[in-house]
Amino acid sequence: MSTFKALVVTKPDTGYSCNFADFDERDLMEGDVTVRVTHSTVNYKDGLAITGKGPVVRRFPMIPGVDFAGEVIATSHKDWEPGDHVILNGWGVGETHLGGYAERARVKGEWLVRVPYGMTHAQAMAVGTAGYTSMLAVMALEAHAITPSRGPVLVTGAAGGVGSTAVALLAQAGYTVIASTGRPEEADYLKGLGASEVIDRAELTGPPRPLGKERFAGAVDTVGSLTLANVLSQIKYGGAVAACGLAGGSDLPSSVMPFILRGVSLLGIDSVQCPLVVRKEAWRRLANELDRDKLDAMTSSIPFDEVRETAASILDGKVRGRVVVEIG
Ligand code: NDP
Repeated sequence: MSTFKALVVTKPDTGYSCNFADFDERDLMEGDVTVRVTHSTVNYKDGLAITGKGPVVRRFPMIPGVDFAGEVIATSHKDWEPGDHVILNGWGVGETHLGGYAERARVKGEWLVRVPYGMTHAQAMAVGTAGYTSMLAVMALEAHAITPSRGPVLVTGAAGGVGSTAVALLAQAGYTVIASTGRPEEADYLKGLGASEVIDRAELTGPPRPLGKERFAGAVDTVGSLTLANVLSQIKYGGAVAACGLAGGSDLPSSVMPFILRGVSLLGIDSVQCPLVVRKEAWRRLANELDRDKLDAMTSSIPFDEVRETAASILDGKVRGRVVVEIG
């Protein structure tokens, strides 16, 4: 019998729990590629899955972890060979399919993306789902013709994972980036990533007016709720907001005024079911455009054993940037 170390969520009658266990390889789910996982990461959604504070896990037992990087060790899929270096983001992994917080994973070959040339597994997970989502948001703004010459671009939840990567990517692309954070002590960090100005997130949490002063050509919003409503009311004529997250709430207490009087667009970003062709382009661009020194500056690493503590911290808004989990 072959077993491996995994973090396992169970939900017996006594309640939701998440513990390390020896997992039997025969209990891995269906898939045509088996991966030796070397690194994973902690995204906001992983925090919800590990703590049970959000309905992320929808199959029990579950190995959480919505992304991983590793090496293919067995495959019957035409695109992959043993020894290939792969990344997985989303597709329900860590939610309905056994996930990345484990020394082994078995998934469908068509879910995988190759680790870009010149990138290590650790760097791929420093980017992780948060960074890949940031690139999807940047691509959405670009597709809406939000160019640097149209004015400043706002990033909310800027000191978090999606936010930090979005600040770095947008600054690198020549945008004037305004970073909104609830952590003024992170102002120097955000300026180091390329923010031109750092604002207090309290500016964006009051009762939203239907239309406010036109301040931003575009925005990447990771917070939702009142923050997103305030952001929408302050977008310039013809601008757009890429809505990625709900760290402040999943509601949207807004009005149609920004849409019908200023032609503002709300661009939905989903990383989980995003088509493979778009994923590949996002990862290609991340490999070429994300400054590796800035990626290092926003990344810390933890041993596998500390993943539960970090999951609790990310929900408290205490994690800065990105956290890589060293699995094996
Ligand atoms: P992080 O926790 O790293 O970042 C979230 C940031 O939001 C925090 O660092 C904090 O930034 C800010 N924040 C937290 N709580 C509040 C609050 N109550 N009010 C206002 N701001 C708050 O998480 P991630 O970067 O991993 O994810 C960010 C969001 O994006 C999450 O909601 C996540 O679910 C979502 N997401 C969505 C994806 C998709 O496919 N659409 C994919 C990946 C993530 P600061 O301290 O700077 O204010």
